[in-house]
Amino acid sequence: MSITATIFRSRDIDGGAHHRAFGLVAIVLAMAVFYVDTYTDIEGAIAVLYVVTMLLAAQATTRIGLIGLASVCAALTLISYGMTHGDDADLQSTVRLVVALAALGVTTVLLLKTEAARLTLLSANSALKESEARYRSIFDRTRVALWERDYSKLRSYLMDVRAQGITDLKAYGRTNPAMVDYCVGLIRVVAANEAAREMLGRGSVGVGALSRSIIPGQERFLEVLQAIMDGAPVFEDKVEIRADNGEEKLVLLSISFPEDPAAFNRVVVSMVDVTQREMELKALAEAQAELTKASKAATVGAMSASLAHELNQPLGAIVVNSQTLLRWLDRDPPDLAAVRRSAERMIRDSQRASEIIQNTRNLLSPSNNKLEDVSVEGLIDETMALMEHELQRSGTTLLMETSSRLPSVSAVKIELQQVLINLITNAIQAMDEAASPERTITIAAERPDVEHVCVAVRDTGPGITDDAKEKLFAPFFTTKETGMGMGLSICRTTLEARGGTLDGNNHPEGGAVFEMRLLIKPEVEYA
Ligand code: ADP
Repeated sequence: MSITATIFRSRDIDGGAHHRAFGLVAIVLAMAVFYVDTYTDIEGAIAVLYVVTMLLAAQATTRIGLIGLASVCAALTLISYGMTHGDDADLQSTVRLVVALAALGVTTVLLLKTEAARLTLLSANSALKESEARYRSIFDRTRVALWERDYSKLRSYLMDVRAQGITDLKAYGRTNPAMVDYCVGLIRVVAANEAAREMLGRGSVGVGALSRSIIPGQERFLEVLQAIMDGAPVFEDKVEIRADNGEEKLVLLSISFPEDPAAFNRVVVSMVDVTQREMELKALAEAQAELTKASKAATVGAMSASLAHELNQPLGAIVVNSQTLLRWLDRDPPDLAAVRRSAERMIRDSQRASEIIQNTRNLLSPSNNKLEDVSVEGLIDETMALMEHELQRSGTTLLMETSSRLPSVSAVKIELQQVLINLITNAIQAMDEAASPERTITIAAERPDVEHVCVAVRDTGPGITDDAKEKLFAPFFTTKETGMGMGLSICRTTLEARGGTLDGNNHPEGGAVFEMRLLIKPEVEYA
């Protein structure tokens, strides 16, 4: 009995009372078969009936139990054979023994196979249950509003409609407005999670018929229907829907349609509330528009400041030259040759002033700015001539260092000239203010690589203070009493607009050095 108890134990644990009953019947049957086989004269393969024992026991035991029971039955068959035919074994009884053992063996193998298949099925089933439970828990706990909806009836209806040759649902829906309501009625809500209830309110998110209020506008709904009809894998769009409390919400609606038509009874629909985000984006766009307006106003302001700043130099030069001209005229006899020279300088400075005004106008309509091939050496020469008077007045020597023959750069000449004049004027002013004993400005031009030409303006002034270094190019930063602080900021913006750069630093041997880097040929025409 202890063997049978072991054999049936494991199934007893999870099998329950009817398993135990099967086990008992099997034991009783095995004993009966043994008795009949051993103690009666019935000729025949009685031992084959052990197979029935095995079949009964299979309901109540495990693999090991089955193997054990088969061994016990085989042993009983052999014992019975030994007891009844031990001395006078004939062919007939031996064949019966072999048939009985073979039947037992085949049955055991088949039962073991069935048991293995059953176990595989059980484990697949439990994996399925686990995955379903995991899906449920994600579905319920996620903060994204989720629905499970049954679209199967709707899909079949749409397929019927298509079979009638209707492929443009939008057009069809417009002429048959009742169709939309009919389609809404075909959708059923299987489940909705807590986030969905929180988002739209409990009234809109009941299981059963789909609430009409959470269907997006007719056009959008027709797009959803079209997606189903066309077999699209997903529908995603921003749609407006109404919550339980009447609040309009903008949501990102996403519906993933299964590949398998049979799975349309459980389609997952998700909604993410983007109302707040959209409002923020709108506010941001409005703020940006305001900013653009403000920066336009600032640009106009900066432009006037720049104009005043740029005109200062030629106008100042005109005043000085007209005073000189008057002095030459007052001489007795008047020095007409000198008068002519002064008048010529005045004409040149007036032309420059008019060019500056013209250029500022061009800046307002950028398409008028024409790029031209500008020779850097020629530009420096011309600028030196323009600044001649100012240089003389301040006792400044201007040196020019050009390494080799430089290529011309594609630029707007007057712009480059303004930058150069600004840098030279700043250098003169810095050396004036610091009363520098040596006053030299060196303009060095070189070609550091195939794409660029560098022009550096170096002075022998006090250099840039640590405090000024950081704000050098910031608009309205100035350390001068009458300064406007616009020069360097405008110079940098001007060069950057054409793909160049402007940087300022202190030279290791003293003084400040401002370096402009110009593109030889801009890849794009900067407007
Ligand atoms: P502004 O000349 O009206 O002050 P800028 O933008 O041209 O405006 O210059 C800003 C500031 O940068 C100047 O006030 C000065 O402090 C500093 N700076 C410019 N050039 C030099 C220089 N060559 N050496 C020393 N400091 C300079």
